[in-house]
Amino acid sequence: MLKVEKINVYYGAIHALKDVSLQVNEGEIVTLIGANGAGKSTLLKTLSGLLVPKTGTIMFMGKNIRGIGASTIVKSGLIHCPEGRRIFANMSVEENLELGAYLRKDREIKKDMDLIYSRFPRLKERKKQQAGTLSGGEQQMLAIGRALMGKPKLLLLDEPSMGLAPILVQEIFKIIQEINQSGTTVLLVEQNANQALKIAHRAYVLETGKIVLSGNASDLIASDDVKRAYLGA
Ligand code: ATP
Repeated sequence: MLKVEKINVYYGAIHALKDVSLQVNEGEIVTLIGANGAGKSTLLKTLSGLLVPKTGTIMFMGKNIRGIGASTIVKSGLIHCPEGRRIFANMSVEENLELGAYLRKDREIKKDMDLIYSRFPRLKERKKQQAGTLSGGEQQMLAIGRALMGKPKLLLLDEPSMGLAPILVQEIFKIIQEINQSGTTVLLVEQNANQALKIAHRAYVLETGKIVLSGNASDLIASDDVKRAYLGA
């Protein structure tokens, strides 16, 4: 579904992604783990067209999407749920969800909104509430709900568990698994490597802009290098 080959991304003189290659197959949860500043958010921003690699290719659903622009990429079904949620604080929950569908022209928007309310009953109870007054966990659910309103084929999630209480972290990972089981492919960026590896099929480890390890999530979770560097062992 997604095939990234040898991309190089720069911020001015800073070489943030170095010959990064990765693949996500339809139906998978793939996780990208790595320390602060490794380049995880940069990779997601590049996939969604906010940054353009200097070299390399990004194929999505058989098409080269490098440089085609962020809104065309959203329309093709690759949707980014950014780090820090980025909800519209002065708008209601419902208006935020509607914005997630702003590029869609089909007639199923209302039906999808109902599906999101059934997946996140707390959002339904609060549909008229200003989004900025939601709790952190509710805001994360809204950010995921808004991304789902774009009808993703591939959902990019950047640090969905960040800043949440442990019980909510569990809930968010369960929700990600359910979203995947109902047919959405997921690329998940996480600092919580332990939880991410538990729900993922495959994983990549990014270190200072380079992929240094990849494989089945169950193999990586058992690897001494990963345990030492990312699982606090
Ligand atoms: P974190 O988990 O802390 O968000 P990350 O793995 O997502 O880390 P990135 O945010 O992708 O890392 O950053 C990768 C590198 O690129 C870092 O060295 C960072 O300082 C640099 N960087 C990120 N954004 C910019 C920017 N807008 N201008 C210049 N350098 C940047």
